[in-house]
Amino acid sequence: MNIVDVLNQIWTQILNVTAIFVTPDWGFLISLLPVLILLGLVGPFLTGLMIGTVVYLVTKPRVKMAFEEGPRVAEIGPGGEPVFPVGLPHCRRDGLIYPSGTLRCERCHDELAVICPMCSLGRSAQIDTCTNCGLVLKVVPRAIAVRSTPGPKPGGAAAA
Ligand SMILES: [Zn+2]
Ligand SMILES: [Zn+2]
Repeated sequence: MNIVDVLNQIWTQILNVTAIFVTPDWGFLISLLPVLILLGLVGPFLTGLMIGTVVYLVTKPRVKMAFEEGPRVAEIGPGGEPVFPVGLPHCRRDGLIYPSGTLRCERCHDELAVICPMCSLGRSAQIDTCTNCGLVLKVVPRAIAVRSTPGPKPGGAAAA
């Protein structure tokens, strides 16, 4: 057995394989039929599942965002004074409660206050550590989270 014989064998095998694709081999196609039917049945199901997942992922965060956005009006206590929940920034002047991380009032642009959840001492929302008991409120302001994502602007140094 020499190399020419081996090459001839490989060549005939290649021809046999290509013959399946060039001339329609009905027996081969019919043997594929169950696979095609299965794909036809499973395909739409998987597509529907993917669309459903995408719709779920797209709609779910929007609902959460709408829930967290914007200030809400504080409840009025029995003494006629607004009642502010502990640990959340609030404006005493307007009686508004803001989501965690807000530092200034949208209405009067005044600094927001926060009540320490541990010792109930009021302080500015800009200070994250209680001066009385040392409790740190873990708050991530949105401005910092946005600022850290984009890189340095290209061409900024070259322009000068
Ligand atoms: Zn205000
Ligand atoms: Zn405290």
